[in-house]
Amino acid sequence: MESLTQNNEQKIIVFEFFSGIGGMHEALKQINNLKILKIFPFDINPNANLTYLENFKIKPNAISIESFSLKDYENLLEENLTDNSTKIVWTMSPPCQPFTRQGNMEGLNDNRSTAFIHLMKNIFLKTKENFLPHYLILENVKNFEISEANKMLCESLLEKKYNFLQFLLSPIDFNIPNSRLRFYLIASKIKKFNNEGEYTNNINKIITGNNNFFNNLVLPKKDIKSFLNIDIENDYIKNSSYYLSKEILNRKSCLSMDITLLKNFSTNCFTKSYTKLFKGTGSILLLDEKLYKENLNPIDLFGHIRFFTPNEILKFLCFDENYYFPKDLSDKSKYKLLGNSVNVKVVNILMNYLFN
Ligand code: SAH
Repeated sequence: MESLTQNNEQKIIVFEFFSGIGGMHEALKQINNLKILKIFPFDINPNANLTYLENFKIKPNAISIESFSLKDYENLLEENLTDNSTKIVWTMSPPCQPFTRQGNMEGLNDNRSTAFIHLMKNIFLKTKENFLPHYLILENVKNFEISEANKMLCESLLEKKYNFLQFLLSPIDFNIPNSRLRFYLIASKIKKFNNEGEYTNNINKIITGNNNFFNNLVLPKKDIKSFLNIDIENDYIKNSSYYLSKEILNRKSCLSMDITLLKNFSTNCFTKSYTKLFKGTGSILLLDEKLYKENLNPIDLFGHIRFFTPNEILKFLCFDENYYFPKDLSDKSKYKLLGNSVNVKVVNILMNYLFN
């Protein structure tokens, strides 16, 4: 048995571009028979890098990705790619603002796309054949799929003879009680995606959560209470700062908050403005369901309504239970980092398919 597992083991070297708090690394860690020989995370955000370092004991490269040259890339591989059975993996979560309405949808013309363009044009399309990644996975917001950036990505993949599939998925599709609709692209130089017919290598075809591709992969359905393991009694006693104050509940903007109950099976997507703005930034938890009614007055909920904590959002995003934030980080910084991160389980499902 022992030797069988070892034989099936794939060794990989990973370039984790736009690593943030390491959602991609988390997803890789949860894959069987995969040995990460070396991982190179890249990010310019100091809070993200600190969190990454504490959890993975690896210090991300804090240079802006535009200044990582083809030569730097090839040097790293020359030093670290010691045998030819080792596979190269690229993971990418480029900034999503260029593809959101709030970010004006300037796509490739937005300065925040420069690093992604650099990676594709100056590294991917220029490196020698044996330094091209065997596997690539990209995550971004909905609308990336209709952008020039995606067109450039798909054309580059076709030029280098990759096979690829595109997805629009939310954790809800897998019974995780949180919405987070995201675009994913997986590509391989060695795998054919034979069963996926018209979806393979087709920029206009996107696999969604109700596709039978995902049969057997959904988790058992759980409501918020059991998913987060919330003990209501305790929650009331612990009158923490996560409870909404009277001052907040009196604000007009509170009327647009999305209230959810422990017995519900969903929460809205948590964005980086969670707790700062109310509309469309993530759900707020009402502990006493009897207080819920149409046209309620938010102030009546005082003492019974609270924000989800950063640790709970880590759980919704399916990070390992031992994952934690550095103790000096403010909640505001934590929510920001979480708002940028990925659902680890969804990424893990796609990686499992890609690698096996
Ligand atoms: N997948 C990550 C989050 C990606 S969000 C996670 O799991 O947390 C996009 C990240 O890209 C942000 O952390 C941001 O700091 C980083 N970033 C943006 N522009 C960059 C650049 N030019 N070079 C390096 N990192 C950059």
